Amino acid sequence: MLGPVLLAAARSDGIRRLVAAAPVTRPVVDRYIAGEGLGDAMSAVRALTGRGLDVTLDHLGEDITDPAEARRNRDAYLALCDALAAEGLAERAEMSVKLSAFGQALPGGHDVALANVTPVVEAAAAAGTTVTLDMEDHTTADSTLAVLAELRRSHPQTGAVLQSYLFRTEDDCRALAGEGSRVRLVKGAYKEPASVAFQDKHEVDRAYVRCLGILMAGRGHPMIGSHDPRMVAIAQELARRTGRKPGDYEFQMLYGIREAEQRRLADEGHRMRVYVPYGTDWYGYFMRRLAERPANLAFFLRSLATR
Ligand code: FAD
Repeated sequence: MLGPVLLAAARSDGIRRLVAAAPVTRPVVDRYIAGEGLGDAMSAVRALTGRGLDVTLDHLGEDITDPAEARRNRDAYLALCDALAAEGLAERAEMSVKLSAFGQALPGGHDVALANVTPVVEAAAAAGTTVTLDMEDHTTADSTLAVLAELRRSHPQTGAVLQSYLFRTEDDCRALAGEGSRVRLVKGAYKEPASVAFQDKHEVDRAYVRCLGILMAGRGHPMIGSHDPRMVAIAQELARRTGRKPGDYEFQMLYGIREAEQRRLADEGHRMRVYVPYGTDWYGYFMRRLAERPANLAFFLRSLATR
């Protein structure tokens, strides 16, 4: 029951101020976030790639309401891209972007977001890496997939995220299972109404397996974004049945979550990519991680109580 409350809190400015001001929050946040600056992000990339893991970097930010902030977020990704290229890490590290950080919710949001994300996608291609568009709440899905379609005309390697909790997603998987497409399949992290999304965890899991079946049988590059051991095992079985080699799909997990499993999969020869968030705007991301697992909230509350 706590999950929906935390997801609602993730969008509350008042609670944001309270949580950000709590003196104990930072150490808990650090479990999930690589740090605030580009230097912290690059240290995490070096450490993870040194251990045989690949990376996707998220410069934290979402739901911006000011066009100047969208441009600052674009510039942060351009600087990241330069840093990856300069250190020869672009082959191992790609970038994940949220279009709401690029102006998607502003008036004319589709065009604003497209105008801001295009230079990032171009810089990524020039550096030898790729961009994946994160998926946010369901009201943004049509716009995000439309931006994806436009970007893929010139940069077909641009990746998408699909969320198995949405009723629409099996159809979206079919549409994006073709040659060259890169789709990260996740269960979904936002509070969604019963009119558009499964509410029962088992239904979401069953939908995940159906969607995975479609992507693995297709001709694209499926990216299995889940920490769930059952989904990881099913993906391996589907890869075996469809004759996919380790480089034809990949596993993805979040920074700080199930690290031993991340290393185990990499050691077994799988491509394992870690999603590394960094930056100062960590609140929404952090609250979604708390909502996913009651034990995380208990950890957070215990750290408050022991101060
Ligand atoms: P669950 O059934 O939630 O969890 C399975 C097991 O994983 C748990 O029992 C626990 O052991 C472990 N686990 C899961 N979550 C946590 C946690 N927070 N802390 C500690 N342990 C945990 N969602 C979106 O809506 N849009 C996106 O663009 C998006 N991108 C993502 C990118 C990646 C690489 C990943 C891994 C997830 C992403 N998500 C995104 C989040 C996703 O939708 C889920 O909310 C999240 O992954 C939890 O679902 P799960 O598949 O891991 O399975």
